[in-house]
Amino acid sequence: MSLETVLSRIDQDLPSSIDRLMELLRIPSISTDPAYKDDCQTAADWLVADLQSIGIDAQKRQTPGHPMVVGHIDGPGPHILFYGHYDVQPVDPLELWDRDPFDPALEEVDGHKVIRGRGSSDDKGQLMTFVEACRAWKAVNGSLPCKITFFFEGEEESGSPSLIPFMQDNSEELKSDIALICDTGLFGDSTPTIVTMLRGLLGEDFTITGPDRDLHSGMYGGIAMNPIRVLTRILADLHDDTGRITLPGFYDGVEELPEDVLAQWQGLNFDHESFLGEVGLKDPAGEQDRMPIEMIWSRPTCDVNGIWGGYTGAGFKTVLPSQASAKVSFRLVSKQDPNAIRKAFREYVESRLPEGFSIEYRSDKGSPGSQMSIDNPMFEQARLALSDEWPNPAAYVGCGGSIPIAGYFKDILGTDAMLIGFGKDDDQIHSPNEKYDLSSFHHGVRSWARILDALTKRG
Ligand SMILES: [Zn+2]
Repeated sequence: MSLETVLSRIDQDLPSSIDRLMELLRIPSISTDPAYKDDCQTAADWLVADLQSIGIDAQKRQTPGHPMVVGHIDGPGPHILFYGHYDVQPVDPLELWDRDPFDPALEEVDGHKVIRGRGSSDDKGQLMTFVEACRAWKAVNGSLPCKITFFFEGEEESGSPSLIPFMQDNSEELKSDIALICDTGLFGDSTPTIVTMLRGLLGEDFTITGPDRDLHSGMYGGIAMNPIRVLTRILADLHDDTGRITLPGFYDGVEELPEDVLAQWQGLNFDHESFLGEVGLKDPAGEQDRMPIEMIWSRPTCDVNGIWGGYTGAGFKTVLPSQASAKVSFRLVSKQDPNAIRKAFREYVESRLPEGFSIEYRSDKGSPGSQMSIDNPMFEQARLALSDEWPNPAAYVGCGGSIPIAGYFKDILGTDAMLIGFGKDDDQIHSPNEKYDLSSFHHGVRSWARILDALTKRG
């Protein structure tokens, strides 16, 4: 039967899809708070039963933390894995909610219907978009168009401690042709996105020591070198006047955007003035020869996150401190090597320390940026399918932060991950009054039906 039949089935079934989501939203599955441990089990049980009702062979799988839900259904064509998480963020401060966060409801906001409640967007609402698409497909066709594995975790909001070991222990079962992850958002209100670039992160936390004790500036000021003076000069010189980072070799491995992606980004008409205006700023601070959207998504950064030393209490103490410290972090892209950058940073800092100064580092392990292989034809098939559903064509986008799960699929299972989601910037995920646009939910379900069709037919 045709895709159109599945889509009309989704439209007709929307009221009961909403009812099912509401049931899931009523379970307070807060993963970080041990008081809600049983509720996490209940949410997993609910999902197992719901998947079974569609004919999926689903099980709750215990871990040292909250359980995973894994479901399989056979079919022809490629093997698709879908990932989502059923745990939610804590709700405090509760007094800022306009309703009980676990008593969800449909509300009207500025003429739009929204589903209000904790987890409505992140990630129960998003997770159910895919489940509902499969339900409609199965109802219309009697089977699904390909082999599908459902993989839901209950610890995403508390750092996913069981995820890597579980993926390692069950890698044969979870290995697939593509992993679909639904935990991201639209660009603006109506442009669907596939996140294909995620920035990595490298941090350096260090202290430089000059004189072996704090000195009095009346006695030593002028003759003794002040570590804060040394440190601030080092930090200030990390960027040049055009916003470029000055570390030797820093841009090694940074790739230019493919032409078609560059054109898509230009087409997004990112309004940097209002983006910066919202936080009281005006001019983009990155490399001046780059589009502002590149500064967030595809260019590497260096930021001083903290700096301290000397006397910062009330009044004055004319101290010339012995030490000065800073935390510096880098967002990394494409093939930049965190180890090489750490080495370049340390050489740069140490080359600028005066005779007699020493340095001590307290640093974490770095992670490189990740880039999905969009030459896998499934990416373009999914992008075209999304473009058929929404008013604007879908774009491959970057994500300034990190979504570690995407990298795990690649590193542990060797599977490319496609991050597609229907959240909006004002969904207030992690905050009071979280909501999910009803039309995002509806178009989200329809989008997955189109994507399933495209991945299995056009492929
Ligand atoms: Zn999430």
